[in-house]
Amino acid sequence: MNEVFQVVLKPGKEQSLMRMHPWLFSGAIKKIQGNPHEGDLVEVFSADGEFLAMGHYQIGSIAIRIFSFQQVVPGTDFWISRFKQAFKVRETLGLTTGSGTNVYRLINGEGDELPGLIIDYYNGVAVMQMHSIGMYRIRNEIVEALKHIYPHTLQAVYDKSESTLPFKANLGAKNGFLYGDVSRAEIKENDHSFLIDVATGQKTGFFIDQRENRQLLTRYTAGKQVLNMFCYTGGFSVYALKSGAAMVHSVDSSAQAINLTEKNVALNGDFGEKHQAFATDAFGFMNNIKDAYDVIILDPPAFAKHQDALNNALQGYKRLNAKAMEQIKTGGILFTFSCSQVVSRENFRKSVFAAAANTERHVRILHQMTQPPDHPVSIYHPEGEYLKGLVLQVE
Ligand code: SAH
Repeated sequence: MNEVFQVVLKPGKEQSLMRMHPWLFSGAIKKIQGNPHEGDLVEVFSADGEFLAMGHYQIGSIAIRIFSFQQVVPGTDFWISRFKQAFKVRETLGLTTGSGTNVYRLINGEGDELPGLIIDYYNGVAVMQMHSIGMYRIRNEIVEALKHIYPHTLQAVYDKSESTLPFKANLGAKNGFLYGDVSRAEIKENDHSFLIDVATGQKTGFFIDQRENRQLLTRYTAGKQVLNMFCYTGGFSVYALKSGAAMVHSVDSSAQAINLTEKNVALNGDFGEKHQAFATDAFGFMNNIKDAYDVIILDPPAFAKHQDALNNALQGYKRLNAKAMEQIKTGGILFTFSCSQVVSRENFRKSVFAAAANTERHVRILHQMTQPPDHPVSIYHPEGEYLKGLVLQVE
């Protein structure tokens, strides 16, 4: 095991750790004993010398990501125990039996007391994205922990951290397999089939976080004309078609996404002319859809990745939602989402409210959506809630 460095906080700066928040900001630090490298293990003490927490050190405004508020030995056994806890939650959720659904998020960063680490499990293929240098440095221990959790079913582990690690750290990280070699898989979600390419797909390959919202959509789609904007792999389109939609149009600006959507639709049945997919810009497509659709899904990419882009993002949501609300058929159903972490639930709702007010149509909120329970949020880290959605009925 590596050396553990000691960090002492300025007086009064222990507050956030006392409330079990997993991030320690650099301004709280009074002194660091020794000279830790990025990703090294540190123990944090109050100004009075009281032990507070253990974490990974990194240069930047979040200086330490806390993985334990107790003194532990952070070796393979410790990581295995964390993985076991996370697996047990997914087991409780009924996600691990493989029947009906064989893809889920195993590790959701702070929500699973493993800040900086995301692992999605695709029917035997684990895809990990590391956001912290500390997690990146222990990636081989993480592979061991995965083998321990899935002794019979683990076929491959793909590290997809090249674009998620802080680029300034110059780690030279390259995406690739750390174990096995299976990059394409066919997975099932609520008995719907999808093709996954872990190497070329966005994020870890599939937006697992929309599982329950896709299921909810099926209440509204039988016999309807449906528009799935920002369709990516066509998740919402497949659910709509299988639940009896009269017509589904899928739109994404990426030709690769449209290609994948068409393949996924074909994998789930012969829907003939009922499905059409368009590789085009969403805003352009939505200029001329007056009374064409009963159900519209708006699941755009994160409009704001950072706080300073917040206002533009809120304007973007407003514009997009206004286009849909102006043109959806009377009594239509709008599924609208934001996956930007910096946009709060309240701010998102305000943008959608502003869009509704502009159109002067009567709009009811039928459901409020969020991320599914395999993307848990630590109660001490509300920032972990990122997916927000509303189901609206538009008179
Ligand atoms: N709804 C999808 C996930 C959407 S991700 C699912 O359930 O899996 C966002 C998608 O928006 C990406 O596929 C991206 O290619 C697409 N996109 C980004 N900007 C766009 C634009 N201006 N017009 C249309 N699609 C866009």
